[in-house]
Amino acid sequence: MNDTYHTLILGGGLSGLTVAHKLKLHAPKHKFCILEKSNHTGGVIKTHRENGFITEIGPHGFLDNCEESKRILQETGLDQETVKAPLMDFVRYVYLNDKLNLIPQTPRKILMAPLIPWQAKLRVLTELWKPVLQGEPTVAKWINHRFGSALLPYVDAVFTGTYAGDFDKLTIDSVMPGVRALEKEHGSVLRGLISTMRKKKKEGGPKLAMPAMTSFPKGMVRLVERLAENLDPASELQLNCGVTAVTKTATGWEVIAGGSQYKAQNIVCCLPINAALKLLQGVDSTIPQKSVPEARILSVVFGFTNDVVIPPGFGFLIPEKEQRFTLGALFSSNMFPGRAPKDHVVFEALVGGRRHPEKLELDAETLTRKALKDMQHILGIDKEPVYTTILRSAGGIPQLERNYPELLKWQQSAQEQDPSLFISGFGWGGIGLNDMMKSGTRIAEALLNSSGKKYGAELKGVYF
Ligand SMILES: Cc1cc2nc3c(=O)[nH]c(=O)nc-3n(C[C@H](O)[C@H](O)[C@H](O)COP(=O)(O)OP(=O)(O)OC[C@H]3O[C@@H](n4cnc5c(N)ncnc54)[C@H](O)[C@@H]3O)c2cc1C
Repeated sequence: MNDTYHTLILGGGLSGLTVAHKLKLHAPKHKFCILEKSNHTGGVIKTHRENGFITEIGPHGFLDNCEESKRILQETGLDQETVKAPLMDFVRYVYLNDKLNLIPQTPRKILMAPLIPWQAKLRVLTELWKPVLQGEPTVAKWINHRFGSALLPYVDAVFTGTYAGDFDKLTIDSVMPGVRALEKEHGSVLRGLISTMRKKKKEGGPKLAMPAMTSFPKGMVRLVERLAENLDPASELQLNCGVTAVTKTATGWEVIAGGSQYKAQNIVCCLPINAALKLLQGVDSTIPQKSVPEARILSVVFGFTNDVVIPPGFGFLIPEKEQRFTLGALFSSNMFPGRAPKDHVVFEALVGGRRHPEKLELDAETLTRKALKDMQHILGIDKEPVYTTILRSAGGIPQLERNYPELLKWQQSAQEQDPSLFISGFGWGGIGLNDMMKSGTRIAEALLNSSGKKYGAELKGVYF
């Protein structure tokens, strides 16, 4: 390949596809190509369909509260196809003290609920006067310091559900930079939140509504299939084309992929974070970290006839202190219609994560037996499933632990020094689908406007 592209996009997951979609839509003459290692686009987004059951190998959905994602759905017509599960109606549970505890959906209801004793609730209010912890505290240490130990199991469950992570390793500066910024600015998170809410009220913006989890009738894979549909397979997408080297030249970039050489004015790196770090070390030896830990999970899927009743809602999570085999379960057939054949239910038990990679090595029979035992105990099921399968995600979830903010600083300065280099994707400034669609959109804007926009820490929720 001797042609010079305006832009080469490394990696064809949601991040790379978002950049490509925006370039194609807004600048038809901008010559780009996605270089993708595997034989398909979509990265970790994959849907499994078997015997009438529809389950997810990667993400299950995304919240409909992100402007960039909403716009992409409109631009592709996917907004006409979505299925939604409003958080207001779909409760979640935390398994604690050998039972499922319903987590109320609003902060007021949480405050009134008998989940934690009144003394612990009063302890939460003393957050107003707690000094700011210096350094890079872990999430567990920071929560314990600011809000007290009674909240720890619930926070553990939240970070199990989002990062499959260990909150004794994830750091608050990395996973909730916006909340940490509020704490530092106002001396207290509660004071910061009150001040933000007052400001928003004064500005008269729309009232914050509870978002809905969004997917598609045939599963999440529809999102990436639709984004890839418009790409010209001859010129805009190269599959089975793994990038092995990237070099900065006097005129732009040279990329070796699938044994061929590609040239471009700009590169957008949308690879999994560790693949990106490996390649970029050849470009800049000052990268502060050679790798980022990842947490892998698998799901053991169980289908039952519907004389087995699962509780209403999204599912439940299990804090580590309960010492169960699984991390929790997602009630797939509650979330979206058509996930199980008529008169059947389906749910997915999650196994592994940052704390228990050894469980992923177990054989299929052991995994199924142990996960089923957990589910039968927790959900009070005395029947055998009519369908089981084990789904393993292709990629791990990046763990934003100590020194991660340093890595983000390096990313920012590398991009500032070289405006033709863009680094984005899973683990760079976010881990959710909305983060990917947002950062992909911003990169395309910067490529087309040379705007070089900068964005600060955001106050975003921890749920996807
Ligand atoms: C198990 C799991 C569950 C999740 N659940 C949710 C959820 O419910 N909600 C949510 O919002 N988010 C969820 N996420 C996160 C979400 O899936 C990611 O944010 C998003 O899919 C990442 O997209 P990406 O394109 O940045 O990365 P990826 O999907 O990792 O894509 C990177 C691409 O780069 C390719 N590649 C790798 N190496 C090379 C190379 N050398 N050359 C060329 N190409 C290469 C890969 O094949 C891949 O296609 C989940 C993630 C996982 C793993």
